[in-house]
Amino acid sequence: MPKFFIKTYGCQMNERDSEEVAHSLVARGYEQVGHESEADVVLLNTCSVRDMADQKALGKMGMLGQVAKERPHVVFGFLGCMAQARGESLLKGLPHVDLVVGTQKFHRVADYVDELLTTKAARQAGITDAGYGRMDDPRLSIVDVAEEPGSQSAIRHQQLTARQATAFVSIMQGCNMHCAFCIVPQTRGAERSRSLSEIVSEVRDLVSRGVKEVTLLGQIVNLYGRHEFPKIDNKSPFVQLLEAVHDVQGLERLRFTSPHPIGFSDDLIDAIARLPKLAEHVHLPLQSGSNKVLKAMHRAYTAEKYTDLIARIRRARHGIAITTDIIVGFPGETEDDYRQTRELVRQIQFDNAFVFRYSPRSGTSAANIPNQIDELVKEERNHDLLEIVNKSNRRILERLVGSEVEVLCHGPSKTNPARLMGRTRTNKIVVFPPSPRRLYDNPSAGQWGPREGAGDELVGELLNVRIERANGFSLYGTLPPE
Ligand code: SF4
Repeated sequence: MPKFFIKTYGCQMNERDSEEVAHSLVARGYEQVGHESEADVVLLNTCSVRDMADQKALGKMGMLGQVAKERPHVVFGFLGCMAQARGESLLKGLPHVDLVVGTQKFHRVADYVDELLTTKAARQAGITDAGYGRMDDPRLSIVDVAEEPGSQSAIRHQQLTARQATAFVSIMQGCNMHCAFCIVPQTRGAERSRSLSEIVSEVRDLVSRGVKEVTLLGQIVNLYGRHEFPKIDNKSPFVQLLEAVHDVQGLERLRFTSPHPIGFSDDLIDAIARLPKLAEHVHLPLQSGSNKVLKAMHRAYTAEKYTDLIARIRRARHGIAITTDIIVGFPGETEDDYRQTRELVRQIQFDNAFVFRYSPRSGTSAANIPNQIDELVKEERNHDLLEIVNKSNRRILERLVGSEVEVLCHGPSKTNPARLMGRTRTNKIVVFPPSPRRLYDNPSAGQWGPREGAGDELVGELLNVRIERANGFSLYGTLPPE
């Protein structure tokens, strides 16, 4: 059967969409491979949030043109946000591209791939009837970037690995917010939510297959269902969903990302206080500490409201970790505006933050604001803010040294497969050996070293790990003696 390779750019929602595509291809007997050189189908699931993400995917597809010359039967496709934004124009400069599929059509990818492989094989075999055309005919390509009602419910199958501790569940698609810098409303469309029962049944299925932690995903996850479902007992549809997922037997931890400060209401803060499976971590995008810039960004809150919200979240759950996203160099951001952001970041002491230099995206309102900021200034502000964020991150990690924390074991560490890696409830990465005993193949003979698969049985387990040191963004620890 044909082999396929998918490379994913961008956010967790894209990762989740790629899993859905992988599942649909595997269900038809295709085999997933880890490198494009082995594949008969090469798919790039793209991101459009920043110009650099676009350029990376375009550059990668450009390089694959050489593979197309050597292996003309291979199908090449763009999926996702950039495919949605650019559509058919992607075929122009890249003659080997056969497939362009937008964000509402991931469930059609397997059909399209089947069709293209058949067509290419027939044309290579010189079959010119049955509509296949001749090899020297203009290319047959497929472009589908149309809207499709109900497409939010199509992302529901999970391609799990053998032992998988944690999984993402897409609960909604799209966004109606229209932040001035963001292309998402154009690439992902208007907000559409899945039904609560569908989501709960997906979570039940995941848990029955060994998953212990789920993260509910949406562009503005806390506004889930606001157009489709009513409030009940003054609880928003999102809080109703949290409660229903929380009740799934066997689920140990529940997370969600990313909420918007707007709509982060009292019922959600109350849920954080009373639902014990909700892990102690909220990622809450700030974007700027200047009210003038927030207004220009069309972010309908102030720095004061954001600070107050963080204080209420921290009061609701002791020790909760707060991370954020911040954009520096938004058009018109003065030194004084930046100073306000810097001051707010210093004051809040985030556990971590993604700091982005503003990147104009055509099709967004901010791209047309005349007062764009010089790249060097953006770079300086980015660097300066990261130093502040890294300091608070280090301080918070250092405080954990010497303590014992609950870690959900995810599997071997990527940088050192002889060790295991997991996450705390506050979402900190912890690296630890599978236990001193398991490190030895044959201790009595003095042979030591990690044996292959050491610690496999710990994947998906909640373990108490003693933290011995903090380094960079990770903690290092050991399991207590057996
Ligand atoms: S809330 Fe704003 S930044 Fe987030 S996806 Fe919607 S438009 Fe983009």
